[in-house]
Formats: sequence, C-alpha cells, structure tokens
Amino acid sequence: LNRRLAEFGTTIFAEMSALAVRTGAINLGQGFPDTDGPEEVREAAVRALRDGHGNQYPPGPGIPELRAAVAAHQERFYGHLGLTCDPDTEVLITTGATEAIAASLLALLEPGDEVIALEPYYDSYAACIAMAGGRRVPVTLRPRPESGTYALDLDELRDAITDRTRLILLNSPHNPTGTVLSREELTEIARLARERDLLVVTDEVYEHLVFEGAHLPLATFPGMRERTVTIGSAGKTFSFTGWKVGWVTAAPELVAAVRSAKQFLTFTSGGPFQYALAEALALPDGYFTGLLEDLRAKRDLLSDGLRAAGFEVYRPQGTYFVTTDIRPLGHTDGHAFCRALPERAGVVAIPNAVFYDHRDQGAPFVRFAFCKKTEVLQEAVDRLKKLA
Ligand code: PMP
Ligand code: GLN
Repeated sequence: LNRRLAEFGTTIFAEMSALAVRTGAINLGQGFPDTDGPEEVREAAVRALRDGHGNQYPPGPGIPELRAAVAAHQERFYGHLGLTCDPDTEVLITTGATEAIAASLLALLEPGDEVIALEPYYDSYAACIAMAGGRRVPVTLRPRPESGTYALDLDELRDAITDRTRLILLNSPHNPTGTVLSREELTEIARLARERDLLVVTDEVYEHLVFEGAHLPLATFPGMRERTVTIGSAGKTFSFTGWKVGWVTAAPELVAAVRSAKQFLTFTSGGPFQYALAEALALPDGYFTGLLEDLRAKRDLLSDGLRAAGFEVYRPQGTYFVTTDIRPLGHTDGHAFCRALPERAGVVAIPNAVFYDHRDQGAPFVRFAFCKKTEVLQEAVDRLKKLA
C-alpha cells in the first residue's frame, strides 16, 4: 500500500458492520435503511433488466433519461431559487456520491493544492484528497451543548484559506453531526469563495432530509453557479444504498472536468438502475415529504431514547444520524465505547473520532443511525437504557 493511503486502513463502516454481523447486535452504525425504496422503482429496475435496457455499457455521462430527470428534479425543488440545469452539459451520473467525490477531487486538484473540509468529515473525503495529491485543511465544527447543535466558526474558515487553497469541500446536511448550514453561513462561505476565487464541491446527498427549514443548495447563492460542483445520491433519497448511483450537477466546464476523471475510474455506471431512478426522480412530492416525515418521527424517537439512556444528544437538523456525547455515561473514548457496545448492549454505533484529524476533538462523540424500522429503534433504545 502506498504512503498516500497507508494512514487510512479499513473504513470504520466495514469494521463496525462486520462487528454487527459477528455479534448479532442491532446495527445503528453504517447508515443504510433497513427498508428498501419504493416498490415501483424496484419494479422499474426489474423491467429494465428484463427488457434489456442498460445491460450493456450505458453512455459514459449517464443515460439521457436519468440526466433529464436529475435536471428536472433540480428545477422542481430549486427552480424557485433560480437554479436551472442543462441535462446534456450540466449533469453527470456517477457510481454513487462516493465516485462523484473522488472524480471531482481528481479532476480539480493539482498536487499540493489545499482543500478545506469541515471536520468531522465523511471518511472518503480525506482518502480522496490524498489520492488526488491534495492537502486537507480541516475546519472543526464546534459542539454547542447548550443548544445541542454544532456551529461553524466563520473566522476559523476565513483563517484557514491560504494562497494554496483550491477548493472547499462542503457537506450540508452534515454527516455525522446532523448540522444544516444556515443561510447566513452559506452566504459567508459563498462570499469567501468568490473573494478568494475558490471552487466548492458540495456534498448535498441528504438534501431531502432537512427537518428544520428548507435545503438551500450552495449553487443558488450569488456568483456560485459557475464555481460549485453539487453532489447528490439515489442511495439516500430513494433508500437504495446498494445501487450506487449518484450525480454531479455543475456548470459545463466543471462537469466536463469531472467526466474526464470518471471515464477512467468506472467509465459508466450501472445501466438498469439508471432507468429505474429516472422514474424515481419523477415521483410526486408526497414521496419526498413522506420520507422526511417518517425519518422525523424516528429522529425524535431515537434522540429522546438516547437522552433517557443518559447520553447527551446533539439533535440533528438534517440527515439520518444523531451524534451523542458519552461523557455523561462516564466514558471518554468513543472508539473503545463502540467496540464494547455490542457485548454490553447489543447495539452498534460509530465513533466520530475517525472523522477527525484532531481526534481528541471527536473522542467522546458517538453516532447512531435512525434510518431503521420503528420497532428496531425502540428495541435499541430499550437495550441502551440498561447501560446506565
Ligand atoms: N457523502 C456523505 C456525506 C455520505 O454520508 C455518504 C454515504 N454514507 C456518501 C457521500 C456516499 O454516498 P453513496 O452511497 O451514494 O456513494
Ligand atoms: N454513508 C454511510 C454512513 O455514513 C455509509 C457509508 C459507507 O458504508 N461507506 O454511514
């Protein structure tokens, strides 16, 4: 293994899901729903397979039907904010958001370029920045226990920008903290990007999981359309994490750049699933609000249950994750806590420390996923209450 990758080891998701399988514990670690997405979308995939749609290499940028559906989705949900999207030049279908992140960084970074990422950050960010030869510069989201939220210190963000900064890698709604950046924070990020001539790669895979207020794509802020690469994922929006279909939307030159990298990573992405997801993206608004309301109730169930079990809870404004502080339970090392939790309580969770460069900052925090059946969450809460 080369030096660029050696520090990353095995992802925490593989480690913790293997632990869940080995112990039979309830897996609230890796974020995947335990209920598959809509039946009509699954049927559409079967139909595509059977009818021979997409069984051979689809076009590299994605099938026209899906690119059109992504563009229509952007206009349906964000058109009132002025967002438009040309399906031929401004959309690229990828193998999950994971490939979109990798291809964007590989396409846009020169060796030695600095990338600012909000810490804690999704684990593939650090590895992909390294694979692209970039240098990550973390800006730490600060926990605010009084309000049960995390805050971005805009002064820290400003101070982190240097002459070597090429781009900001943003994620809102934010995994693992559940933070949704406010209009004011996004306005300031946009201002800094314009002023310092930076690109922004914004991972908005949880765009439909915003419990308070509405999702605001960074690309809709003044002057950002031409310098923003926006990433979405069918895994999150339609509960098909195993299908690995995502997308990039951006100005034509940026999409062309990301496509240049994608063509040598995977060339193209799973064909029949693309046909099915073109239909999924056209589902009525009720599908999207139904998903949100279902997860809102689950967020409340798990947050309240964790609080009753003695955890300090950071109530998520978005995503399907809740971050907790384990210090009220008498623990300080989240990784050790998570390794022992299946034996002690029959539950698997993720230690936030693995998403930090400054591991000490993340040490006492542990993430639980709530994209699970109500009875599963209830059982997990009952088990965790016995910990105290
Ligand atoms: N970004 C974030 C913030 C995520 O949480 C995830 C999924 N865990 C991804 C990207 C990857 O998405 P996909 O499964 O579509 O590759
Ligand atoms: N995105 C999911 C999470 O944060 C799973 C990612 C993965 O398995 N690589 O839990």
